[in-house]
Amino acid sequence: MLFKILVLILVLIAVYYIFFNKSSKKKSKKVDKNKKKEINSETMLACTKCNVYVSAKDAIIKDGKYYCSEECASKD
Ligand SMILES: [Zn+2]
Repeated sequence: MLFKILVLILVLIAVYYIFFNKSSKKKSKKVDKNKKKEINSETMLACTKCNVYVSAKDAIIKDGKYYCSEECASKD
């Protein structure tokens, strides 16, 4: 009986470990929200002008604001 419980615990630890590894490799949206200061290429940013969401790698930064395109960035 004790051995079965021990095996069960080991399986649960293994499952948890696998799941944790996967979630840490793929940065989930929850992680991005918690790390607002760390902007990576996967982070979605809202265009200041038209509110369209673009990934950080495609976003245009002008005067500390994010824009979806050069068109939005140039218009005031
Ligand atoms: Zn825009």
